[in-house]
Amino acid sequence: MTLPLPEAFLDSLANTAGFDKDNFLAVHQQSENRTSIRYNPQKLDLYKGDLPNEKIPWSPYGYYLSERPSFTHDPLFHAGLYYVQEAGSQFIWEALSQIIDRHTEAKVLDLCAAPGGKTTLLAAYFQKGIIVANEVIKSRTNILMENITKWGSENVVITNNDPSHFSRIPDFFDVALIDAPCSGSGLFRKDNNAISEWSEENVLLCSRRQQRILADMYPSIKEDGLIIYSTCSYSPQEDEDNLDWLMQNFQLENIPLQIQPEWGITAIESREHKAIGYKFYPDKVRSEGFFIAVFRKMGGASAGSFSANNFTFANKDELSEIRNWTTPENKTFIKENNYFLAIDEKWLNAIGVLQKNLYLRKAGITIGEIKNKGLVPAHDLAISTIFNRNINKINLDKAQSLQYLKRKDFEIDNIPKGWCLAAFEDLNLGWIKILPNRLNNYYPTEWRILKD
Ligand code: SAM
Repeated sequence: MTLPLPEAFLDSLANTAGFDKDNFLAVHQQSENRTSIRYNPQKLDLYKGDLPNEKIPWSPYGYYLSERPSFTHDPLFHAGLYYVQEAGSQFIWEALSQIIDRHTEAKVLDLCAAPGGKTTLLAAYFQKGIIVANEVIKSRTNILMENITKWGSENVVITNNDPSHFSRIPDFFDVALIDAPCSGSGLFRKDNNAISEWSEENVLLCSRRQQRILADMYPSIKEDGLIIYSTCSYSPQEDEDNLDWLMQNFQLENIPLQIQPEWGITAIESREHKAIGYKFYPDKVRSEGFFIAVFRKMGGASAGSFSANNFTFANKDELSEIRNWTTPENKTFIKENNYFLAIDEKWLNAIGVLQKNLYLRKAGITIGEIKNKGLVPAHDLAISTIFNRNINKINLDKAQSLQYLKRKDFEIDNIPKGWCLAAFEDLNLGWIKILPNRLNNYYPTEWRILKD
């Protein structure tokens, strides 16, 4: 049951376009299921199962589910076949499709990235681009790493930096998403904590923090670069007032989007500069609350030249071993502390620049370590999209898959000795190694399922 909503909160929305107090209150008393997921286009070709019936109209890979299953106990979730994401957040796909071609080789910044939902959307959209997923809070980079590894895209770099550090690489990015930390009123329907923690002071604090984050990242965007600003707050101070603040302080063009009336999304105009943003009220849109606006940077310059780190590359023998395990088209294999990483050739210099200027937690796909007896493959490789399709693979049933994901024992028959991919419905879960009298489970300990 949802707690009563703060009066000060309701009052603060009184003059906001599209806010209908009675309907808004009513929808906060309903516990209607709104669970939605977005499939991974880079893994969907392996999946032979059925897709849910109800599509999200603005998201080509997005679906509403008729009930909320236990995602923890679905092996396909751990295989990175889909990500659980609000329908509102998935609107970023529609916004992108209206402003930039999917096939652009874009450098994309996801500045406030953890736990990584929108990063997976960006990685799926810009398959020819490179996504820099940054999270300032160190402990939150772990969940970001886990979700991005499961998604399996090779084109994501994870950094752990303060937004101000991005001014070290001016005019670098073509696109930036600032999914800002906010007061969280958009989550009121599903999170009573968000209600009890809401205050006018916090809205103000969030608004100032959002401005600081926006100002900090601004220099890193190229001329003509796109800036997408989003929150999960309804508060004008964090939404439309920040559009005015952006227009006042920077050389930006606001980009209106095409909205179909049946989507129920409300266009909001900022007071001073008449910049347009879009609010998702849960009594009008089948989603939790969301706000998004898009800008193009008018000033700035095109990317300059930056100093970049140098890499050590795999030698001929190492490459021939790596080829047994990967589909190496257009990949460069670099060596970092004995581990080999697969990186898209065309992004080598960009990654060098990022490594020189920021704190890189992950780049590309970790292939593994080469020891005397050959490659010891990394988990990353198993659930990536670049593993060699000729590697031995065994499809586990659901019970075996869950045992595997819990790192518990399970039996399988007639498997050739050596390294083998453990899969569920053809989607890889990780590695096992078959020894003469036992099976070793290489699922990462830190990610194992703890719940029975
Ligand atoms: N984009 C994420 C997704 O789709 O999964 C959700 C991001 S969440 C709304 C905001 C993120 O901003 C959080 O991960 C939070 O740790 C981070 N954050 C908090 N304070 C910040 C700051 N001062 N600068 C940048 N990011 C911050």
